[in-house]
Amino acid sequence: MTDAVIGKVGVIVGIAATLLIRLPYQVRTLHLTVTRHRRSAREWCLLGLLSMGMVFVPWEAMRRDSSLAFANYQPWSGQVWLGWALLLPAMWLFWRAHADLGTNWSPTLEIRHSHTLVTHGVYRWVRHPLYAAIWLWGLAQLALLPNWIAGPALLVGFTPMYLTRVPREEALLCEQFGEAYRTYMNRTGRIIPKIKSLPKDNPNPPGASGGSGSTVISGGGGG
Ligand code: SAH
Repeated sequence: MTDAVIGKVGVIVGIAATLLIRLPYQVRTLHLTVTRHRRSAREWCLLGLLSMGMVFVPWEAMRRDSSLAFANYQPWSGQVWLGWALLLPAMWLFWRAHADLGTNWSPTLEIRHSHTLVTHGVYRWVRHPLYAAIWLWGLAQLALLPNWIAGPALLVGFTPMYLTRVPREEALLCEQFGEAYRTYMNRTGRIIPKIKSLPKDNPNPPGASGGSGSTVISGGGGG
């Protein structure tokens, strides 16, 4: 197998894994009632941009007779293997974040009826593990696809979404969970764990109930 093929297989495995990991959560959350949301046309456009960078542009670059073939370059030795080495932890984190978030996951910013604040599993370390996985995935794609346009497409497509969504998502969660989310924010990093304030004995912030590290919302949550 040539490096180009090994890289393409990585990109295809990545796209398939995204769809397969996400599908059950998409189905399980379809019927749940949304009580608060920050959906907007801008939000959908940003999701579209992310899909372009993650699926459509790489797909076009990998096609035979691709219109992006002019931007291909010769990968340096070991480049696509580095891509695989980044892809595997990205897929693991993407899967774990979905598993830990459960039915609290949504493609846009939403609070559902019986939404719980998740602070266990990978959420114990960072507030946005799913977005951290997408950054890692973007770096993997850069190494897997030796094409000047499709390689960085995911990093480029995700940047505006990350920058505009995270503050709005955190504001929504503060509005919903109040002090419990603010305390959680103080002891966790967004995508990189806060080394100094890692939870030791008590991983749950005050106000979060249950050994699982989740708290059940009641009404507005205060704030
Ligand atoms: N930003 C998170 C989750 C992305 S999915 C991550 O990167 O892992 C987006 C949805 O997750 C939003 O609708 C938000 O309401 C919900 N959410 C984000 N963090 C949460 C948490 N700690 N507990 C419960 N729901 C959360």
